[in-house]
Amino acid sequence: MNDMPMVRFENVSKRYGPLTVLDNLNLDIGRGEKVSIIGPSGSGKTTVLRMLMTLEAINDGVLWVDGEPMTHMMQNGKLVPATTKHIRRIRAKIGMVFQSFNLFPHMTAMGNCIEAPITVLGMKRSEAEERAAELLNMVGLSAKKDHYPSQLSGGQQQRVAIARALAMRPKIMLFDEVTSALDPELVGEVLQVIRKIGREHDLTMLMVTHQMGFAKEFSDRVCFFYQGKICEQGAPAEIFGNPKNERTRQFLNAVL
Ligand code: ADP
Repeated sequence: MNDMPMVRFENVSKRYGPLTVLDNLNLDIGRGEKVSIIGPSGSGKTTVLRMLMTLEAINDGVLWVDGEPMTHMMQNGKLVPATTKHIRRIRAKIGMVFQSFNLFPHMTAMGNCIEAPITVLGMKRSEAEERAAELLNMVGLSAKKDHYPSQLSGGQQQRVAIARALAMRPKIMLFDEVTSALDPELVGEVLQVIRKIGREHDLTMLMVTHQMGFAKEFSDRVCFFYQGKICEQGAPAEIFGNPKNERTRQFLNAVL
């Protein structure tokens, strides 16, 4: 099982009516690998994350996570559509942070971080609080643990959202344009936290980002999406320094 990548999109397609958003996608993400997805608006980047989070059903193909099919399950040696219970078990391995922070507004930073560990994982409150305190410390927010989201800046809220996702002990973290809604001066503190997680945790990380400098410095691999396909992928130095594909060049010229 450990020979399998942490994530595998196998011939995955996604359509909305007549619109093909992902076209026969094949993508493997290795254990502990950090992958950035870049590309023009509407190229299907967010859909990739939403399908992994099972917020969207796929139309064709199979999605594998940690060596097991997620969208399907094995029955008598055949892949059949997965039950909700199966999907939920596999999805528990994945944490996601969104562009909009999505914190529970009526709970403190600490409350946000202990809610799911207690209700979903059945953790004891004291244990959940201990773990949450460690995570809030890691994201630099120990002093704000009793603050409500409305009392925090956007950057601080996003850091709580990251701590909250990590509190569920995921193996895979998805980041969807997590700095896009932030004022420019708050972007750095959130990227700093993501960098730290990358260094200190053996997590597989997949991010959609418009921060090209960050993608270049942080990722093991960069995938450039265009019209629902991976148009070009490779090490950041190759993609940013010597893109082979004309579309990649055009995109980078426009954004850099
Ligand atoms: P990106 O993240 O690269 O900007 P998305 O994955 O969000 O692109 O979207 C890809 C395409 O799918 C876009 O054309 C978008 O309009 C379309 N799309 C996304 N979600 C839906 C939906 N729920 N219904 C119909 N079309 C959608």
